Amino acid sequence: MAAHFVNISGGKDSTAVYLLALRRGRPFRAIMADTGHEHPVTLEYAAQLSERTGGPVVEMVRADFSAEIARKRRYVETVWREEGVPETTVERALAALVPTGIPMLDLCLWKGRFPSRKAQFCTEYLKERAVFDTCVGPALETGPVVQWLGVRRDESRNRAQAPFTQRVRFSDRHDMVLFRPLIHWSADNVFAFARAHGMPPNPLYLQGMGRVGCFPCINAGKVELAAIGRRHPWAIDRLLEYEAAVMAASKRGIATFFAADKTPQGAALVKKLKRRAIAETQGAHPDLDPESKEFDRERRRRLSDLCNDAEWPGADAVFRWAKTARGGRQYDLLSWSDEGLSCSSQYGLCE
Ligand code: SF4
Repeated sequence: MAAHFVNISGGKDSTAVYLLALRRGRPFRAIMADTGHEHPVTLEYAAQLSERTGGPVVEMVRADFSAEIARKRRYVETVWREEGVPETTVERALAALVPTGIPMLDLCLWKGRFPSRKAQFCTEYLKERAVFDTCVGPALETGPVVQWLGVRRDESRNRAQAPFTQRVRFSDRHDMVLFRPLIHWSADNVFAFARAHGMPPNPLYLQGMGRVGCFPCINAGKVELAAIGRRHPWAIDRLLEYEAAVMAASKRGIATFFAADKTPQGAALVKKLKRRAIAETQGAHPDLDPESKEFDRERRRRLSDLCNDAEWPGADAVFRWAKTARGGRQYDLLSWSDEGLSCSSQYGLCE
């Protein structure tokens, strides 16, 4: 018989999936990957699922990057020094490369950067792998597994084509079936279903949060950031601490939690530096074809140097911008329209 696992995030969709699995009346395990970067309320809410419903206790799993950080230290000590990286940079990185036990921060220390929309490695390492390595993978050694996922098609373009069920085959283990019972549900359906089963929403939804996974998510929108800045200023301090640590661990000495072009000023700077890199490449290599690979390589090298010297908006600047309207020129006291947020996990682990 297949073992059933319900992935929990502390958000509305995984709550509905948990309640659906309970209604089915057969045993299942509920698993949540704790990134160390959730709001405490979200962890508390996940714990209450069992208390309020009598269902299974939500098991917490945490990724551990101690081994990766130890490997990175050895790399810094040897390869960076061989490459001629300044000793102050090496010493700074070695001082920063110490596991903190906070999976999100340790992952970024190891990588020497924060995840981004294009390189969203956080979902994979902090959630998908953590759940698979500790629970689902071992279960697949003894029999098939069904993973219940809180994915809805109307959430984002990324999930618009997600199938209802999906079989995943392994050469050395049993099959796994990904089951997405909410695929045709709307957000209203999900909230109403939970309400009908006596489960109130995670309180963070009532405070203007669109999603309640990481606090905040790297992809958080302006409205949500404004709400966080207003109600939970400690979250900004936490990000500033992360930024200082990851900056110290990175060879370039740059690291911002949010994308460099999150604010209008950052976006303008990105454009300016891109234009400058092209102009400098043309000036230095007038004979190179702008469409050629050589030109592109040189342009990228120059852009990288320019980016190293630029001043990028840190988390504090992003939160200041979130309080403004009209392209960041005015403080916005009135506008609270919703803004689309999108995490791309097809597993629905990033709610
Ligand atoms: S919620 Fe956002 S920051 Fe957290 S793992 Fe998912 S994509 Fe990354």
